[in-house]
Amino acid sequence: MNRTEILQLFDRARRGGYGIGSFSPRNTVLIDSVLGAAQAQRSPVLVQMSANEMNWFSCDPETFARAYFAAKKRFSAESVLHLDHTKDVDTVFRAIDAGFESVMFDGSRLPYEENLSLTRRVAEYAHARGVCVEAELGAIGGADKLETGSDETLYTDPAQAEDFVRRSGCDMLAVSVGTAHGVYPVKNPRIDFDRLMQIRRRTDAVLVLHGGSGLPEETIRRAIREGVGKINIATDLELAFQQVTGRGRMPNAETLQLPADMLAEGVRQVQALVEDRIVRYLLSGGKAD
Ligand SMILES: [Zn+2]
Repeated sequence: MNRTEILQLFDRARRGGYGIGSFSPRNTVLIDSVLGAAQAQRSPVLVQMSANEMNWFSCDPETFARAYFAAKKRFSAESVLHLDHTKDVDTVFRAIDAGFESVMFDGSRLPYEENLSLTRRVAEYAHARGVCVEAELGAIGGADKLETGSDETLYTDPAQAEDFVRRSGCDMLAVSVGTAHGVYPVKNPRIDFDRLMQIRRRTDAVLVLHGGSGLPEETIRRAIREGVGKINIATDLELAFQQVTGRGRMPNAETLQLPADMLAEGVRQVQALVEDRIVRYLLSGGKAD
């Protein structure tokens, strides 16, 4: 899907009152779970992997993109290949060249102007190739260092968000409004909906909620009502897979060596989880084109 089509997809979602999930399979095998769920529930989805995940699971943009496009042939799903958190501009360019249709450049830990100018550089390269760009302003922390490598949290400033989107040219903006990566230490994390509304009023960019794992469904539904378009869900998939394998994080190649029946069961369980998120949290079931 190209940038225009992806933005139309989010436009449709906003008008239709549903969100679109960006799911991290963590390994190439579980791409089938995300596309299978999208097909079964007729829901649009994004399939994502971050630079940190690629390092951890010994995968790279080319391998992941190859696996994604091969899997895509086996399913009928409206889906987008997305690069999640990546701090290194060259890695972002490499992913674009490998076929990623949407990319996140994460300069949230950089000084404001530096984040802005690098995001603009990424947007110029990406847009010339029909690729969508997500940026982050403020900092989303949390226990899952796999995604960002940091647990510091800094809330997004609405006025800055407006300036940032306008000057950087990014299409999507990850906002920090109280969600966190990984498993939440409390049962009901407090989301700053007022801040979210203020950001929504000031910009037309697709707003992205990171840390969608472990959030109550009502919180996600409300965030969608308040203007969030894309919801990232990663940790939940990994936990569902570990329930089946009984093991912690495994390199991609090692996952491929698991017994076939265990692998098949893992794919099934993760697909069930993604379908549940589509139906109960995102309300995107039946919305595929
Ligand atoms: Zn994230």
